[in-house]
Amino acid sequence: MKTSNTQLTIKQKEFNQAMEAYHLHGYYQYIYKLVSLFNVLLQLILLTIMVSLEITWYGYIIALFIAYFLTDFINGLVHMYMDNNENYRSKWGAFIASFHLHHKTQHYKNSNLFLVYFNESGAKFWLVPYLILVWTVSFLAINSTTLLILIMIGILSSVAEVSHYLCHNSNSKIVARLQKYRILLPMSHHKQHHENENEGYAFLNGSSDFIIDIIAKKLYTGYKNGSDKHFEGYKGAGTENRD
Ligand SMILES: [Zn+2]
Ligand SMILES: [Zn+2]
Repeated sequence: MKTSNTQLTIKQKEFNQAMEAYHLHGYYQYIYKLVSLFNVLLQLILLTIMVSLEITWYGYIIALFIAYFLTDFINGLVHMYMDNNENYRSKWGAFIASFHLHHKTQHYKNSNLFLVYFNESGAKFWLVPYLILVWTVSFLAINSTTLLILIMIGILSSVAEVSHYLCHNSNSKIVARLQKYRILLPMSHHKQHHENENEGYAFLNGSSDFIIDIIAKKLYTGYKNGSDKHFEGYKGAGTENRD
């Protein structure tokens, strides 16, 4: 017990130091903006390729269903990895620590949805190489439907961030309807992530949580007694987009 309390104190100290660096060095915000810019530009390029594909309307619908589920699943896995990542002393430490603060937040700063889309794409470091890879693949003789699904995943991954934002911030009836029909993430589903332990990581519409929950139970013990405890003593400012 004594050892675990000591470990907790060390982690809390490391967390605070990482957040101190996050606020001290302006370049963290520039990196986020740069990643946002890359992601959105690459998505625009892929969008032009997507609309030029020769696919039937029902081909688009089927691709959308598959891409929706896969996007929910992939982004949920990244979220699971990040919530259980405690490497505050690594060179990514400041990004990891600031990411954890989303568990502190039940209401985000109200913003224009395009701005949310752009800003939240900045934390998606993995998406840059993914989009470059899909763009490269588009020059090869790849099946059109497969390419369409890959492009949709690349774009829907940023849409997922907006879906999560709306889940916390929206009072709109239209959004409520979209959440009801599982086009967006419903709060009734998402609150299991904030209230329970090691659950509900998916955030486009939550459709893949039934698989992610099993994977999470096998790989991790969870965040309630892990990363959530590390910011308990943190009194500093929040992150720019996740206040
Ligand atoms: Zn989380
Ligand atoms: Zn949330």
